[in-house]
Amino acid sequence: MSLQKRRLNRKMRSLSAQQIIQVWELGQRQHFLDRAITMLSMACPEQTTSELAALSIGQRDAYLLRLRELTFGNQMTSLTACPHCQEKLESTLNVSNFRIVELQRSHPQVYRCRIDSYELQFRLANSWDLAAIAGQKDAMQAKTILEQRCLLQANLDGQLVNYDQLPTGVIEQFGETLSDYDPQAEILLSFDCPACGHQWNLLFDIVAFFWTELTVQAKRLLHEVHVLARFYGWREIDILSMTTARRQLYLGLVS
Ligand SMILES: [Zn+2]
Repeated sequence: MSLQKRRLNRKMRSLSAQQIIQVWELGQRQHFLDRAITMLSMACPEQTTSELAALSIGQRDAYLLRLRELTFGNQMTSLTACPHCQEKLESTLNVSNFRIVELQRSHPQVYRCRIDSYELQFRLANSWDLAAIAGQKDAMQAKTILEQRCLLQANLDGQLVNYDQLPTGVIEQFGETLSDYDPQAEILLSFDCPACGHQWNLLFDIVAFFWTELTVQAKRLLHEVHVLARFYGWREIDILSMTTARRQLYLGLVS
């Protein structure tokens, strides 16, 4: 494991009340890719944003899951509606079950694979790569740009070949290989409707999920500040620095 990732793992801490509000303030004006980095950089201030953006999407999501667990606990509540009969489903999920990439495991920077007679060297897609295709409307074009960026070198019988020279079958397999090597980037949730029996899968997006939770929590905290500041005249920073237990006790006395 690289020194950078070991530091990231050991030093990551839960978001404080002030940080939750800061992330929410900053993130409102940001693209979701930048929001993910804002959340992580708040929890790991010794990491540069460049270092965090260079994490593969799967690694980024594994760290976001860990941060979510540290901040709000292991349990998550998911609300969804059955696409067939619109029945509302509430399920409780455990964050730790979603983390399929061990944070301790090492992640090589360069991967190698052989497809047909081609030797390929590649790296996993990261936030920079997704930012590069963020404005691309043509999905096939976006896929091509992503693969070109991730392919570091291709050889056929010792001769270097370009991405454009690879046969279609090899490119297809390479696309699948990229996903297979970063499984954390795509977590599918399976649902089973108790009302009509319909079964379906949904892609779990930790960035959107965590962002929604942080937004709710930031607004709740600001409301608590409003109530306590108005009643006691305390400063925002002092109210937010209190433990949750102490803040809740005062809120109980006021209401
Ligand atoms: Zn249903």
